[in-house]
Amino acid sequence: MKRNESHPAAVLLFGATGDLAKRKLYPALYSLYKQGILSHDFAVIGLARSPLTREEYHRRVKDSIARHSRFSLPGQEEWAAFAKHFFYQSLDIHDKAGFETLQTTLIQLDEHFSLKGNRIFYLSMAPDFFGLIAKNLHTAGLTRTNGWKRLVIEKPFGHDLSSAEQLNQEIREVFAEEEIYRIDHYLGKEMVQNIEVIRFANSIFEPVWNNRYIDNVQITSSETVGVEERGGYYEKAGALRDMVQNHILQMVAMVAMEPPSRLQTEAIRDEKVKVLRSLRRYEGDAVLQNVVSGQYTEGKIGEEIVPAYRQEAKVAPDSVTETYVAAKLMVDNFRWAGVPFYVRTGKRMAVKSTEITVQFKNPPMNLYFEKSGELGPNLLTIHIQPDEGMTLHLNAKRPGTAGGVFPIAMEVSKDSGIGYNSPEAYERLLHDILHGDTTNFTRWDEVAGAWEWVDPITQVLRDTGGKQLHFYAAGTMGPEAAHELLRKDGVDWWPLTPADRPCSPVKEGLPHEL
Ligand code: NAP
Repeated sequence: MKRNESHPAAVLLFGATGDLAKRKLYPALYSLYKQGILSHDFAVIGLARSPLTREEYHRRVKDSIARHSRFSLPGQEEWAAFAKHFFYQSLDIHDKAGFETLQTTLIQLDEHFSLKGNRIFYLSMAPDFFGLIAKNLHTAGLTRTNGWKRLVIEKPFGHDLSSAEQLNQEIREVFAEEEIYRIDHYLGKEMVQNIEVIRFANSIFEPVWNNRYIDNVQITSSETVGVEERGGYYEKAGALRDMVQNHILQMVAMVAMEPPSRLQTEAIRDEKVKVLRSLRRYEGDAVLQNVVSGQYTEGKIGEEIVPAYRQEAKVAPDSVTETYVAAKLMVDNFRWAGVPFYVRTGKRMAVKSTEITVQFKNPPMNLYFEKSGELGPNLLTIHIQPDEGMTLHLNAKRPGTAGGVFPIAMEVSKDSGIGYNSPEAYERLLHDILHGDTTNFTRWDEVAGAWEWVDPITQVLRDTGGKQLHFYAAGTMGPEAAHELLRKDGVDWWPLTPADRPCSPVKEGLPHEL
């Protein structure tokens, strides 16, 4: 077995005909196989209601790889070697007898592929089904095995604390906490995983990573797409629950956490939970002062006129669901007291981007202010998607004899130094599941901590019946109120387009190469 190769295992893929399986999971499995990381002793059993023959299933898997994989489709022989590991069973998860058939198939495959009884139950389905699937797996004996068993579940984990608790209780009746892999796919992203390394493997950042030197932190996750065909789901979720409760709070936790005592799963998760517990809770008026919610109206994305949220399919014409949220978070602990974490996320915004910008305080005395007119702050930006990399904005001497200061940007990007075909988030996460590493998955107390912060905000937004909703035209960077939220503190959002940054050499009219 190669050093990085996974252990033998059966992957039971519930939701095998769904969008996530097609766009992410099959390509990820194929990438791992291509790199020799996936053990040759593996079997995938696709499960969904659609009646498919094994050949039809293989065609779907092949088509998904052809369209979405970062590796090109294999030749006939290599494809046959990969496809022989894929099986399909039509199964309605309400059908108990179907689970018994599955157990029989699994026992046969276990022997045929020497899977050692190791089982991964990947639930790529609507969360309403998770409890029932866990129960039926248990009743049919699928969870009684000589090997290990792992349960993988997709977001959302509940829609508030109480539904999350109920769901957790249902799955904990069958699986132990360390067997549960709650996916937050942002934790599989290259640059999100890199936050920890940038912070704890460089001695230049940690000494200044606190309220003495940092002015504010800004986290943006903006999309240009609308709700697409997910209007039904989104109406019930909204941006706060769809993005902030999980991805955004996870990024806040990673930026703000204390160094773990050692690089071990539970030590890292312990530190993240402490951040979530330190978040200042907002209730009543404090919500309206610190949180801005918005909804997109008709607008223009590129050359295309796009409809308002209320005109999207499966969306109520008077919907008050938020498609945008901006908030000022305070982490009330010694390290971060007084440092605002401004976060924002939205659909149909002008730019597609996820990035974290740490703005440092100005030097104690500005020797250059009079000469340069404007000395920009130092910024560290971590680009998460679609670009991957980081930029450090510094001030330097203006070239030539005129004197003064001008901004320079030191950039590290995939193209400039890291330079490799970065794996997809799902590839990394599947790799971790196969290796039994739960570090990049959310532990129950992280999920609960995030809901505890989000729930009172949802409550206030709901109680105001949409009166607090700020409308913004599609194709903009969100409502004006979100800028006001920061201007009250004397700052504003840093532009996401590099050329628009105040400290961009481009804006200064200076050549890139000096
Ligand atoms: P989807 O396209 O609606 O797929 C749902 C799957 O469930 C289909 O394979 C469907 O197949 C199967 N199914 C539905 N009812 C069933 C039943 N009674 N018994 C057995 N199978 C049944 O959903 P998805 O977009 O793939 O999302 C799956 C999960 O991932 C959800 O929790 C979602 O929130 C999460 N997620 C998705 C994305 C994404 O980009 N798609 C991103 C993040 C998280 P049949 O109709 O053939 O039964």
